[in-house]
Amino acid sequence: MAKLRKGDEVEVLSGKDRTKRGTIMKVLPKENKVIVEGVNVAKKHQRQTQARVRGGIIDKDMPLPVASVALVCPKDGAVRVGYEYRTEGDRRSKVRICRTCGREL
Ligand SMILES: [Zn+2]
Repeated sequence: MAKLRKGDEVEVLSGKDRTKRGTIMKVLPKENKVIVEGVNVAKKHQRQTQARVRGGIIDKDMPLPVASVALVCPKDGAVRVGYEYRTEGDRRSKVRICRTCGREL
């Protein structure tokens, strides 16, 4: 089970965007990376093509290593994540929890 999912709010722990927060747009499990909206933005020069009338500079969100972001708990901010098993009837499920306050994330 991946610790981070699309739509999660995370905080950046290292690099030029340290302490920045954003939402995960995409998880890249093979590379162990995530793409976070508005974080690790690279300016890309785009060449003019037939389809694109105007060339220019576009912003592109570049993937970040999973290890350099932390999930944000609404109460505690950037936290470490743990797992807990919940049993409901005869169904057992694994849930993500905040290691600081224990709430389900
Ligand atoms: Zn918490």
